[in-house]
Amino acid sequence: MSDSIFDSAKAQLDKALKYYSIDSESELRLQTPKAALSVSIPVRMDDGSLRVFQGYRVRYNDLLGPAKGGIRFHPGVNIDEVKSLAFWMTFKCAVVGIPYGGGKGGVTVNPKELSLLEIERLSRGYMSAVADFIGPNVDIPAPDVYTNSMIMGWMVDEYSKVSGEYTPSIITGKPIALGGSLGREDATGRGGYYALEAMRDGLGLPKGKLTVAVQGFGNVGYHFARLAAEAGHKVVAVSDSKGGIYTDDGLDPKSVHQVKEESRELKAAYCQGSVCEIRDFQSISNEDLLELDVDVLVPAALENVITEKNAPKIRAKVVVELANGPTAPIADEILFENKIHVIPDILANAGGVTVSYFEWVQNRMGLYWEEQEVHERLKKKMDAASFEVLELSKEHGCDLRTCAYIAALRRLNEAVKAKGTLRNFNSRR
Ligand code: NAD
Repeated sequence: MSDSIFDSAKAQLDKALKYYSIDSESELRLQTPKAALSVSIPVRMDDGSLRVFQGYRVRYNDLLGPAKGGIRFHPGVNIDEVKSLAFWMTFKCAVVGIPYGGGKGGVTVNPKELSLLEIERLSRGYMSAVADFIGPNVDIPAPDVYTNSMIMGWMVDEYSKVSGEYTPSIITGKPIALGGSLGREDATGRGGYYALEAMRDGLGLPKGKLTVAVQGFGNVGYHFARLAAEAGHKVVAVSDSKGGIYTDDGLDPKSVHQVKEESRELKAAYCQGSVCEIRDFQSISNEDLLELDVDVLVPAALENVITEKNAPKIRAKVVVELANGPTAPIADEILFENKIHVIPDILANAGGVTVSYFEWVQNRMGLYWEEQEVHERLKKKMDAASFEVLELSKEHGCDLRTCAYIAALRRLNEAVKAKGTLRNFNSRR
């Protein structure tokens, strides 16, 4: 089997096309990215030396509106990954019905090895390198793995310098002081939580308290865990790149997060901080966390963590994919056969891009909403998309991922047809 993430991503589309046929021209237009840019970014390091980093931006598709997608800083970033992430963004925006196409960017770097000032120079360097390729009506970046609102702040400042005008709508996920939206910080985790709550009855989850395990305790995983615990569910395990912690009693994500912030390592939460001292946490590896006997498993870190090898051992009733592409296509089949529902990434983690869209709208209006209004608008979007996907699963008998692709394909196909296809051409003759 191919190791290409893009091939795996395309396999998901091919599967949906077996259940739901679209105009052949729509199919053709979804096969390849519209544009891809590769840049080298020279950065002056703190010791005076020069390093050159590799960066990318891919605009996969803009049938429904300007391309939209985050910027990732990670040593594993490569063009195949960025292209796949841009592909998923195309379908994600279409599933939740926001007027965007799909894009993505990244820099091949381990930001943990850089000082804050070096990261600032790299962020500004990336933005000036891609400035001509993006734009508020063309392609709008946002945060992703190992990038955050501070980095978006540097980037919007750099773009405004390069373009010669204040342009907050060039990027989303900005600090509030620079035109960010209230409610953006926790939007992806919150959106995933809303999707789970909207679908739980339809997916046959037990009533009342659910047990939850979260792999990846960054922005997305933390906020999902926090909201789940606040709603009374039992978060029994969380992990980050260094390992995880587990307790039958359920942990308090807020305290764990606070300790992690202070210690920068989740394992320090064993014996530091008030909650940790009264809880009996066990150490758990990222691999074992995935195989826990819980109601809800949440991969919220990187792609391809549920594979052919470990899928048969997954015991959760529902997988909520907050990470992009955490389940390999073959693993998907195994989970489906084992009656484990997967709320797919393009739906489960669409809350971030939805509130990014709200941020862009507010920037263009120059009028800003209260946080509660943002939450309510997000819930409305996530509920509508979740119910649509559930309905499609009843209609077509397909797994939720395939149904989410069908929901997206319906909108993308309409846009292609509205722009004119061979059908229009033939009817005029
Ligand atoms: P983040 O950088 O805040 O957190 C990533 C977390 O994953 C960190 O805790 C890190 O330690 C952990 N991690 C890294 N490698 C790991 C490994 N091998 N095993 C377990 N944990 C590991 O990033 P984030 O913004 O929370 O993004 C997480 C995922 O969610 C990514 O797949 C991203 O593409 C996706 N996502 C993010 C957003 C968003 O708004 N931030 C939106 C949609 C999707």
